[in-house]
Amino acid sequence: MPELPEVETIVRDLRPELAGRSIVKARLSHDDVLRGVSRRRLLAALAGAPIHGMSRRAKHAVLELDRHRLVIQPGMTGSLLVHDRPLSPEEERYAVLRAALDDGRTLVYRDVRRLGTLLLLDAKGWGAYDSALGPEPLDPAFTAERFAERMRRSRSAVKKVLMDQRVVVGVGNIYANEALFAAGIDPSRAADTIGVEQYRRLHEETQRILLAAIASQGTTFRDYRTGTGEPGSFQLELLVYGREGEPCRRCGTRLTGTHLIDARATVFCHRCQR
Ligand SMILES: [Zn+2]
Repeated sequence: MPELPEVETIVRDLRPELAGRSIVKARLSHDDVLRGVSRRRLLAALAGAPIHGMSRRAKHAVLELDRHRLVIQPGMTGSLLVHDRPLSPEEERYAVLRAALDDGRTLVYRDVRRLGTLLLLDAKGWGAYDSALGPEPLDPAFTAERFAERMRRSRSAVKKVLMDQRVVVGVGNIYANEALFAAGIDPSRAADTIGVEQYRRLHEETQRILLAAIASQGTTFRDYRTGTGEPGSFQLELLVYGREGEPCRRCGTRLTGTHLIDARATVFCHRCQR
């Protein structure tokens, strides 16, 4: 699933294309991506709606309309693009939401396996949605102290807590693996046994890696594409994720792979990470 850097890249690419435009009319190919909204209500709300901007919250792209926000959570196979020409038959096939813009172009949410979700929230719904999510890891107000304080409340494995969107948002499996390696922390350690100094390091490395991944336009293993349809390139800079059995770039030890933490793929160096 796209994590913070991928969604941030999509939003940065699309924001200048969409801000100030308006939606003339929208079409939806399948209802199964909708959460808490019917097709009828969604399409009625989008028709004629001005687009004030686009932003990101956690791993979701947020289209800011007049009275609503359209929250798009691209699944593993989801992407967002603005098309300035008619869609090809292949593009037609996987276009889930199509919003015709007032300049003749079309905003398309494409999702091959329809693993993503669309929410339409009014001000009250947005408030509830936003407050259920943890702080943004790149927010300057989210200091190392606040990070440590939130992480240390749990006895679960530190990697699981780092990926818990109620504790801190945006970090999924790829960047959790990378940040824990960079900080030298064993991913299976109980979060409440890790010291403040180590959390300071993890906070710093998490921020550094997320920013580096944004600079590389995200990580593309298969489906993820930027808002201009290009692959990202941070996969070339990953030190542990996807490298099980290969030598650690720091000490040469074979990297260990396990699915014991929350059934997700964890790769780490048992020598460098304690
Ligand atoms: Zn190592």
